[in-house]
Amino acid sequence: MSPPRSPDDAVYLDHAAATPLEPEVAAAMDEAAAVAYGNPSSQHAAGRAAKRILEDAREQILRLIGGRVGGTARDRLVFTSGATEANRLGVVGLAGSHAARQAGGTVAISARDHSSLRAAAAELGNAGWQICEVPLVGAGAVDFARAAAGPASPATRILTTTTVCGQTGIRDDLAGAAGLSADGWLVHADATQSAAWDEIAFATGPWATLALAAHKFGGPRGIGGLVVRHGITLAPVAPGPQELGLRGGTEPVPLAVGFARALDLVTATRAEATARLVPLRDRLERGLLAAAHAAGIEAVVVGAQAPRAPHVALVALAGLDRQAVAMAADLAGVCLATGTACASGSAEPPAILGALGLPDQFRRGAIRLSLARTTTTTDIDRAVVRLEAVFRRLGPKPSGENDRPTAVIGGLSDT
Ligand code: PLP
Repeated sequence: MSPPRSPDDAVYLDHAAATPLEPEVAAAMDEAAAVAYGNPSSQHAAGRAAKRILEDAREQILRLIGGRVGGTARDRLVFTSGATEANRLGVVGLAGSHAARQAGGTVAISARDHSSLRAAAAELGNAGWQICEVPLVGAGAVDFARAAAGPASPATRILTTTTVCGQTGIRDDLAGAAGLSADGWLVHADATQSAAWDEIAFATGPWATLALAAHKFGGPRGIGGLVVRHGITLAPVAPGPQELGLRGGTEPVPLAVGFARALDLVTATRAEATARLVPLRDRLERGLLAAAHAAGIEAVVVGAQAPRAPHVALVALAGLDRQAVAMAADLAGVCLATGTACASGSAEPPAILGALGLPDQFRRGAIRLSLARTTTTTDIDRAVVRLEAVFRRLGPKPSGENDRPTAVIGGLSDT
């Protein structure tokens, strides 16, 4: 077996898990660290300087996602450690105080949702809440009509929506969420995978709360945020004097600056990056289907016809084991994933693949490759060549089997 390649030689196609820090973001953070060394809660000059920089970053992020920053009806941004914490603060915070939580309510989730959202919903389930598991429909969006027809509750009703699914890149149906919001549901959005690619327009959207993470778009690890609509109250999940009393702890000012700068950068380059990435992703998918075909493996691209963000390609290889593919790919110099980073390594294939109606033999061989605005054609072509060698090694040995058809599925079962 050949020795592992150095990370520098590897083609990195796992940007949905984490993106490299953009150099200009790193520079902005260094600059902030040099001047914002005071604690933003301190009243002296150094503290006030740090506070000013922190609040500028907060306002910039709110502006960039289309939140209301002026007047009396301002939306708010609570900095968190990332999207996991923001998802929990959103869902459990919306459920209210301990007493309100004990009174119960309904929380609607789906197989699209990240494990952190499902864990937050389970926490409410343990407190006696009804968990409404909403099925997917058509090309993989939440079946909002079914959520609306779910058990009516006189108490709080919370809907989670993942604007872009981290496993498949498939977008959710915004109008459906808006309908439930108009009907009194509190809608929490996990926008972790969409912030780089889709304009958010928070002020006019249906969301009560919305989660973000900077490390998904060229920003630093360790910071994310929960955007909270004006008029929405949340119960704190980590009480303390900072962050509107919702999240205690000294704020990491340089990280907040990096978050704002990274969001500014992806927002400014979004249109151009999307136009460049869609054909690159398609090239990758075509290349992988051809490579699989050449190796005698039946393969499908999940969600090919669905409305998708441009950065995720989910390719399912019949009869292969996704962990074996990921390990062999790593040795061959391609970094890819078998699911979201939190679930990769899990023995079970991602639940969403079952919810989309993907047959079991494809589910077990599903690999996710994800791109960033920095991905090049050379990266794609090198990855395809390397993965073809992997497919040939792991696929069926030549025996006239290689003529099996390779298909692309787009419309997915709504079961
Ligand atoms: N939500 C989605 C859709 C994700 O893709 C991820 C990370 O993979 C998370 C939440 C968790 O983000 P974080 O690692 O910042 O906690």
